[in-house]
Amino acid sequence: MAEVIDGKAVAADVIAKVTSASSDLAAAKNVTPGLAVIIVGEDPASQVYVAAKSRTAKECGFNSLQHTLPADTSEAYLIDLIDIMNHDRTIHGILVQLPLPDHIDAGKVIQAIAPEKDVDGFHFVNVGKLGTGELETAFVPCTPAGSMLLIERVHGKDLSGLNAVVVGRSNIVGKPMANLLLAANATVTVAHSRTKNLPELCRGADILVAAVGRPEMIRGEWVKPGTTVIDVGINRVAAPEKGNGKNRLVGDVAYAEAANHAGAITPVPGGVGPMTIALLMANTLTSAYLASNLPRPQ
Ligand code: NDP
Repeated sequence: MAEVIDGKAVAADVIAKVTSASSDLAAAKNVTPGLAVIIVGEDPASQVYVAAKSRTAKECGFNSLQHTLPADTSEAYLIDLIDIMNHDRTIHGILVQLPLPDHIDAGKVIQAIAPEKDVDGFHFVNVGKLGTGELETAFVPCTPAGSMLLIERVHGKDLSGLNAVVVGRSNIVGKPMANLLLAANATVTVAHSRTKNLPELCRGADILVAAVGRPEMIRGEWVKPGTTVIDVGINRVAAPEKGNGKNRLVGDVAYAEAANHAGAITPVPGGVGPMTIALLMANTLTSAYLASNLPRPQ
């Protein structure tokens, strides 16, 4: 059976380090990291995510600001609010919870965030830095950055000689994940919905990252013995065994099957999910350090 990579434990380590570095910053510079989260509308899943982010920010000793705006908020209002926060020295990270209502252009809103406060790592400046390997000054998207820390627990920082396959090419997970793996010297293949012979391709992976959004699509026989499997997927499926109308979370990987082949595997829940919030805190802390003319905390 595969080693289970405990994302909750690794995330708790990251949060403990962030909390300690945050109190160091307060002692040295009298600065408290500030994270502003903006949510537009009443999407229930988004509300759960935003509440978790605000709660964790407070646990880390940050100032946590939450702006909950009505679903009919105009794009211009949202961009004006971001502009005010861009100039507010007490705010180090600005996060706009996606998805936004259809009448708002999410791309335009993300580009309105100052790159040095873009703790989600979605601004073109940060995307470009990651793409060109400028990792020392980039903000990297939290889910792939967290996935890399889990991979590091198994393989260390240098992935030379290892084949990595990333299934999914979204801007928030698949592409930045591929860039991070490449920066760590892995040989990277990115697969997507137009890829042929996906099972065979996956069987060539030493590190297999699933970011597809399709429940349990990646089967056990797609996993070579000993592979490290990182399951980014979070899918809610019906669970009649728990009672009428109940559901449960599953990943993009058929966990029980894959665990029979993998060397190490992340569970869902409890794998990549907790890392995303932890890395958001780490990015906000980094922003506060850089704004205080201190080097990036390690
Ligand atoms: P997107 O829907 O943006 O992207 C999905 C990707 O999967 C696309 O590139 C798509 O290909 C590819 N794909 C879809 N179907 C297939 C298929 N049959 N075969 C191969 N590739 C396929 O999703 P995200 O990247 O935003 O999210 C992926 C998953 O990760 C979701 O389950 C999401 O909930 C989860 N997630 C988890 C987070 C966490 O904190 N743990 C954070 C963010 C996301 P194409 O480009 O060709 O359409």
